[in-house]
Amino acid sequence: MLMQAQPVFDAVDSVLSLIPENHSRRVIYVTPQGSVFNQKMARDFSKEDELIFLCGHYEGIDERVLEETVTDYVSIGDYVLTGGELPAMVMIDAISRLVPGVLNNEVSAETESFHGNLLEYPQYSRPREWHGKEVPDVLMSGNQKKINQWRLLKSIERTKLRRPDLYEKYEKLSNIKEKLLTQKLLNIDMIEMINRGEAWLVKLYDKEFLLKNINTGIYYHSQIAETENESELFEMSFEESGIQIADFS
Ligand code: SAM
Repeated sequence: MLMQAQPVFDAVDSVLSLIPENHSRRVIYVTPQGSVFNQKMARDFSKEDELIFLCGHYEGIDERVLEETVTDYVSIGDYVLTGGELPAMVMIDAISRLVPGVLNNEVSAETESFHGNLLEYPQYSRPREWHGKEVPDVLMSGNQKKINQWRLLKSIERTKLRRPDLYEKYEKLSNIKEKLLTQKLLNIDMIEMINRGEAWLVKLYDKEFLLKNINTGIYYHSQIAETENESELFEMSFEESGIQIADFS
């Protein structure tokens, strides 16, 4: 059983008619055939003024109306549910908590899992000893620098163990950062972007890479000099680079 085109078209159309002209909008069809939802997508969607979720049921929706209305096809994972309502709710939850003002403590989103391609470090609360397990000494030291170092180390260890795919991304960006640090002043914008967990590695070529700032949408195309004699590490805007890409994200 398939949902027909006209009722779906009318439903989307009536919601679109309520949206002011100058509002940005996306029509998301939740479908197992879409790109798999992740934190980066949640961040992108959170910047839109309006989001419409189109939920299928039964076998799905007539392809023709999807072609006319949908801007994004998004899945919540490689399994099939009976309807799109739960996927839409999952996405709405993940997206809305990134909208400024939704969380009480805005900083918490920045130290959470997936920020900078790392999982969050282990967390502890009271009491200091529970079932024979102690809160690590460093966390009781009051030395914030040491605490931060310990947390970063634990995040790296945990990501490597539990999410090797994510760790690979983290490692690639770390290597790029190391190269950029050889010309710190020249590359300070990209270095800071990586440090803040805002860098998305779009493409890594042999000696070149393309980074995107996930907050501003600005691309950075850079070339890495392997030796000091080689041309210096240079930076240019994505437009200047002349590289034509569609969307690697
Ligand atoms: N026949 C479709 C297929 O094989 O691709 C599956 C249809 S499914 C039974 C019914 C609806 O549930 C879909 O149209 C979609 O809206 C929703 N749905 C099911 N699994 C989903 C998933 N993993 N992510 C997002 N939406 C899903």
